[in-house]
Amino acid sequence: MRPVHGQRVVCKRGHSGLCIYHRLAWSAEQESLVFGRERYQDNSDEMFFGISTKRFVARMKKPLPNIQFTGIITSIAKKAFETGLVEAVVTLHRSKEDYFLPVPVLARTTEEILASGGSKPVLAQTLSSLEKACSKGIKRLLVIGASCHVQNLREFQRRFPYIKDMDLYVIGIPCTDNVHPKNFRFIFNKISHSHETVRHYEFMQDFTVHLRHIDGALERVPFFSLPKEISSAELLTHCCRCCFDYCNSLTDITVGYSGAPLDIEKMYQWVLVRTEKGEQLRSLVADEMELFPETSEGDRTPLVRQYALRYTKDGAAEAMKMSGSMPLEQGFMLAEHMYTTGPRGLEFVRYAIETHLIRNYYFVKSNYPHLISILVPRHVYRILDAYDLKA
Ligand SMILES: Cc1cc2nc3c(=O)[nH]c(=O)nc-3n(C[C@H](O)[C@H](O)[C@H](O)COP(=O)(O)OP(=O)(O)OC[C@H]3O[C@@H](n4cnc5c(N)ncnc54)[C@H](O)[C@@H]3O)c2cc1C
Repeated sequence: MRPVHGQRVVCKRGHSGLCIYHRLAWSAEQESLVFGRERYQDNSDEMFFGISTKRFVARMKKPLPNIQFTGIITSIAKKAFETGLVEAVVTLHRSKEDYFLPVPVLARTTEEILASGGSKPVLAQTLSSLEKACSKGIKRLLVIGASCHVQNLREFQRRFPYIKDMDLYVIGIPCTDNVHPKNFRFIFNKISHSHETVRHYEFMQDFTVHLRHIDGALERVPFFSLPKEISSAELLTHCCRCCFDYCNSLTDITVGYSGAPLDIEKMYQWVLVRTEKGEQLRSLVADEMELFPETSEGDRTPLVRQYALRYTKDGAAEAMKMSGSMPLEQGFMLAEHMYTTGPRGLEFVRYAIETHLIRNYYFVKSNYPHLISILVPRHVYRILDAYDLKA
């Protein structure tokens, strides 16, 4: 039966309320609840990145060990806890069985917070720790999550009395194309020549996947040389293919990397402060960060136009012919060409956002047509229009 927005849903696994395997819809209502208004459709920055009061490129002067980039998120969490701003942090630890699998945690010591750094690139049941926080009577809580966690968190707080009175602080990561835990090693094995020794993994701005191994060696794989089978909708989760919130726009502060210039030594990050609470969180580590202005170079539109062809009647057959995985050498040449002549900085994120929104729109249209009006935000139609795509 078609769910109505805001309805409590129980998923096939029998989880309800705190289940992250079932995403609620994107909702402009939620945006108004957090910010007092929806994003302005005519403001192109808001349309792409969501509402923010401040955006910048940054890095921690002294990066923490075992984190994803320079550890801005973990550093904020540590300070928020140590200064008493919050009593605990809802986040993830690594599983003992598999380095990249997440274990939800309610971190209540500095050590537990430090141990939470780094990506676990699979769907995670982060919000299950809310129950623990409630049962311990915690009133000031920091939650770190992907877009699906944050959308559900905002909805829970609106609807459920037991967290209504909690003073919540929310840090988000931009996020896309997460995988189901059961498929992760299968996919990873196809990407890396030695997946068991990888300790750091990210899709980077130079159009290659960076895999850092335990001995420090960097393996790179061009996006265009990834085996096609691993991007099938069956392996990637349907909930990620139905997501239109790349920049995690309902947070107090979002911390990513893809809007920052690429430098594999400096590991610059991209920060979007969205609310007063986000400003409070930023100021906790202000003295420990180096700041840089955002940059934007190149023009994404020819690349997005090329990508969009596969969703047109005339372009679909041509795209099908070209859809194989390229040999590595050719893949590197194309990646290098796109990186040196294509979009960088903010223009790179716009490229990533537009291609994902277009792809996800057509995924929803083909697989869940009855949910289009619930799942798809208004600004997506502007992007379809801009590339002459049919809604
Ligand atoms: C699947 C995935 C896709 C991502 N895609 C992008 C992207 O396209 N563009 C971009 O700019 N950034 C993306 N990120 C975010 C990026 O990898 C970094 O987490 C971010 O830049 C913060 O870096 P940091 O050094 O400050 O993080 P850290 O200080 O290491 O903190 C990272 C925090 O994220 C939490 N975390 C890790 N994995 C997950 C997960 N699966 N779900 C919820 N929370 C998690 C950790 O527990 C930790 O609290 C993605 C992250 C994930 C997990």
